[in-house]
Amino acid sequence: MRKIVIAGNWKMNKTLVEASDLVKKLKELVKDIKDRTIIVCPPYPALDAVSREISNSNIELGAQNLFWEEKGAYTGEVSAPMLKAANCVYVIIGHSERRQYFGETDQTVNKKIFAALKHNLFPIVCVGETLDEREANKTFDVIKKQVADGFAGLSADQWEKIIIAYEPVWAIGTGKTATPEQAQEVHAHIRSLLPKEAADGIRILYGGSMKPDNARELLAKPDIDGGLIGGAALKADDFTAIIKSPFDKTQGK
Ligand code: PEP
Repeated sequence: MRKIVIAGNWKMNKTLVEASDLVKKLKELVKDIKDRTIIVCPPYPALDAVSREISNSNIELGAQNLFWEEKGAYTGEVSAPMLKAANCVYVIIGHSERRQYFGETDQTVNKKIFAALKHNLFPIVCVGETLDEREANKTFDVIKKQVADGFAGLSADQWEKIIIAYEPVWAIGTGKTATPEQAQEVHAHIRSLLPKEAADGIRILYGGSMKPDNARELLAKPDIDGGLIGGAALKADDFTAIIKSPFDKTQGK
């Protein structure tokens, strides 16, 4: 059984004080939950404050990005050892906004995955097609290439540390969610592309306008092992409702 992961990507939202307030509320609301992995990914300036707030809780910390070098003259960048020292356990890599606005490619994603793994950070690696690609029936091919190039060269041990997020670009922040059937179809496709020994254990999260009212149906699908949540992670009540969704995997087949 794969443990469900619910990860909040706060993107470029929340100042230091706002971030602390949000996670304080969240901590109280989810304190009894043991059967989900709960992750929050605040912006860099709030990592330390959030880390202090969640120490000795069931919430874990992630970052939204990293650079592949360890240190040096790379103005504005943040490295894996820095994230590790800030108590991050996870790091999001290759989010579609990074690909769209900051020129990230499957090759830079690959370098970042190795940098994260070298410093014992668990990568949450995003893949997904644009609307044009879906409408041109290229979804499976696009995903295949992102998986082949993004994860090139990983050993069996390294694969075990990977979390994948399937995020159809057309569903991110748009209010348009993939139907559970559309998402399941791509999740199953992604799993079929993974090395046999690792495929069953790897968590594949869905991301793209997941909300309290659609989480249950999505999470019921056999290959959907959690969610990467943007907008709804910014409200403690909504994020908690997703975390507590009473889905039933036997209903989703
Ligand atoms: C995301 O940014 O990873 C995301 C899924 O955003 P939203 O939930 O707002 O669509």
